[in-house]
Order: sequence, then C-alpha cells, then structure tokens
Amino acid sequence: MGRLNSNQLLEPVIGRFAPSPTGPLHFGTLLAALGSYLLAKCSGGCWLLRVEDLDPPRVIPGSADAILTLLEQLGFEWDGDVVYQSDRYERYRQILEQLRGQGRVFDCNCTRREILASAPHPGEEGPVYPGTCRSGVRGSRSERAVRLRVPDDVIGYCDRVYGQQQQNLEKEVGDFVLHRVDGLFAYQLAVVVDDIDAGVTQVVRGADLLSSTPRQIYLYQCLGMIAPDYFHLPLAFGHNGKKLSKRHGDIGLVSVDNGSNMLWWALEFLGQSPPPELFDSPPGELLCWGLENFQSATIPTQDRQVEFRPSILLV
Ligand code: GLU
Repeated sequence: MGRLNSNQLLEPVIGRFAPSPTGPLHFGTLLAALGSYLLAKCSGGCWLLRVEDLDPPRVIPGSADAILTLLEQLGFEWDGDVVYQSDRYERYRQILEQLRGQGRVFDCNCTRREILASAPHPGEEGPVYPGTCRSGVRGSRSERAVRLRVPDDVIGYCDRVYGQQQQNLEKEVGDFVLHRVDGLFAYQLAVVVDDIDAGVTQVVRGADLLSSTPRQIYLYQCLGMIAPDYFHLPLAFGHNGKKLSKRHGDIGLVSVDNGSNMLWWALEFLGQSPPPELFDSPPGELLCWGLENFQSATIPTQDRQVEFRPSILLV
C-alpha cells in the first residue's frame, strides 16, 4: 500500500534497489533486490535501480554491468534509467553547501587516533565523535572532513519489519561525516539525496543498515523532507557466522544457472514458504508467485545461516 500525503491522498509506492558494485551478485544482495522489488510491485508501485559506485577504490570494474545483466536475466524489471552515484557528485556538493549555509556542518581535522583517544566510549560503528571541532578546527593539519552537527535528541522510527527503533545521535554516534577527508562524499549523505531526488517512498534493504537509519532520518529533517518507510531484512550468514558476502567465495553467488533455486531460497529466507514444486521453475514464475503471495508480516527478524541444498526434495 502507498502512504497518505498531507492532503490525505494515497501516494504510489516508489521503491528502489541500490547495490554497491563491489563484486558479483550474491545471495545477500539478492534478498534486498527481491524484497524491494516485491514490496514495490505488489502494490502497483515503481522499482528504481541505483548503482552505488560512490567509493571508486571499492568498485570492481564490470560488476555493475554484471549485476544489472543478471537481474534482467532473472526477470526483474526496473522503471526508468539506472542512476549512478558517480554522476551525482555536483548534486551532493550542492546539498553540502546548503547545509553549510544553514550552519549545520563544520570542518573537522581530527585524525582517527585523536578521535579514538578522546571519544567518551566506543560506539557500535566506531568511536562516538566527541565534538572536538564543533567550534573551530585545532592545529594546522590541512586535511578536513565535513561533519553534520547532531542534536542530543532521540530519533525514533517504526521499522516495518523490526518495529520501533531509536537512537540518541549525539550519545551513540556523534556528529557524523558527510564529506570525507579523502574528498569523497559519505554514503549517509548520498543515499538521502538520491532517495529524495528520486521521490523514493519505501526503502527495503539489509538489517546491517538499521543503525544508519536514524542518521539518515535526521538528514531528511535537516533538508525539510519526509523520510520514506523502512523495511529492513534479516541478514544471511555464511558458515563462519558473518554476513554472507563475496568473502565467502562461491557460496551464495547467484548465476543464471542457479537463479531459480536462489530465488526460491530467498523467498524462503524472507519467510514466504514458496511451494516446493517451484524450486526448479523458471525465475519468472518464482517472481510471479512472489508478487501474488508476498506478505511483509511474515518476514523474520532472525539473521541466520543458509545451506543452499542442491535439491529441496532432500530436506
Ligand atoms: N549500497 C548498499 C549496499 O549494497 C545499500 C544501501 C541502501 O540500500 O541504502 O549494501
């Protein structure tokens, strides 16, 4: 279902899938593709595609094309043109300047070591920034990051899968980086600007980004925009108990050959009980089944390991 706007009119869902081209498509990324696709399309909405090639050193050449080609071969259809973050640096700069004009950002020349030494306590994603440069940089070090000043307030939101979430940005994260010392824009800024510009109303992605969401919601507030609805999906683990990724070699890699089985496992992982007889059906049939039957209420919140048995008849 879409959501009501300020005139109480139901707006269509605009969802998106935003893979980072840091390797081939694997099961963890397929979960986000499938979940975002089905949740947008089930309600007659649009599904957009954005390549998050924001960080050139991490991009593996050719992987964006390989991901898009494979998605197409599996029957995913996106709306409009694919957006590349690497084409949008000027836009990110413009928004950064807008925030600077509002006095919301400040330069920071602290080193990682200085932050670690003076941070009040370790945060979930590194040390909490202690506000050192809020009222001006210290010393003569010329390399500077740009940080967003955050309030000592709790930012709360209701995730459609994980329920009520909240975070005190100042105490748990600290003023966070929007423009990095190495000259690159930070993911937190780019994702918000891209989603705003594309009119995205629904964000479906892995639960590793649950704790980034309050920062993103705060950025929406700073920019005077309404944040989208969030659905975070449980993470698939490899045999070593870590999030399944390209570090696990071929395990979980998606290909045209195993695409049907991978889609079946993905539906199953997302709590949808696909019929066993569809295990080897063409990908298009699995997507059709998903479109007719997907229920967000049964998505589990438990991260777990997947074994990818070659045939479910052996289960
Ligand atoms: N590019 C991120 C990833 O591949 C997803 C970011 C998002 O969906 O907000 O994990």
